[in-house]
Amino acid sequence: MDDSAASKLAAIAGQIETARSRFGAPPEAVTLVAVSKTVPVEAIVPFLEAGQRVFGENRVQEAKEKWPVLRERFSCIELHLIGPLQTNKARDAVALFDVIETVDRDRLAIVLAEEMTRAGRRLPCLVQVNIGLEDQKAGIAPAETLAFVERCRHVHGLDIVGLMCIPPDGVPPGPYFAQMMGLAKSAGVAQVSMGMSGDFTVAIGMGATHVRVGTALFGGRPRAMPATMA
Ligand SMILES: *Cc1c(COP(=O)(O)O)cnc(C)c1O
Repeated sequence: MDDSAASKLAAIAGQIETARSRFGAPPEAVTLVAVSKTVPVEAIVPFLEAGQRVFGENRVQEAKEKWPVLRERFSCIELHLIGPLQTNKARDAVALFDVIETVDRDRLAIVLAEEMTRAGRRLPCLVQVNIGLEDQKAGIAPAETLAFVERCRHVHGLDIVGLMCIPPDGVPPGPYFAQMMGLAKSAGVAQVSMGMSGDFTVAIGMGATHVRVGTALFGGRPRAMPATMA
């Protein structure tokens, strides 16, 4: 079997395309975010060489160690923060990332907006929704999402372009993905980031615009990351 980065990307692109054509979304509608958390720089390089440009990292410190080097070697990289963010790391996050997918509370929205103004860098942001209302997961409650998006836009001044979620483990994600689509429509946002290695075709079938795929591209991660904040 051809195990190269290019063939893995092609395989995922094929699955995305099949799911997308079933849903009837236009070809440009689904973006693959390659989740490179825990993956060392040397193992990311082949994916950049194969043309992948959109990546996701869940920790500010790790992104700081890996991506400035990679940006020197490759142009047009789009780096998404997909992990929880502490306000004291907002400045670094604004400097390092191109999209923040995990805005989930007012205090963070306020600090991010301040740091973006300070840096003269207005990043597109997504609001993370705790779609399964799980204690251990970050995100705003579904019932509070619309009001929060409004506050982020009109009070805090963030550019909210979409919603993001991680549905509960071990149960079919379809109903959660459907609920996300309803929320996104009501909130008037175009982007919906949902679907990981195990369920990205399901997510695309429901209308996801961004899928975040890690293990299906890079292989298994060494160990579960402790549940501390980025
Ligand atoms: C790790 C991670 C992913 C990728 O998960 P895989 O199952 O490896 O594809 C996607 N989204 C978030 C928020 C993650 O932390």
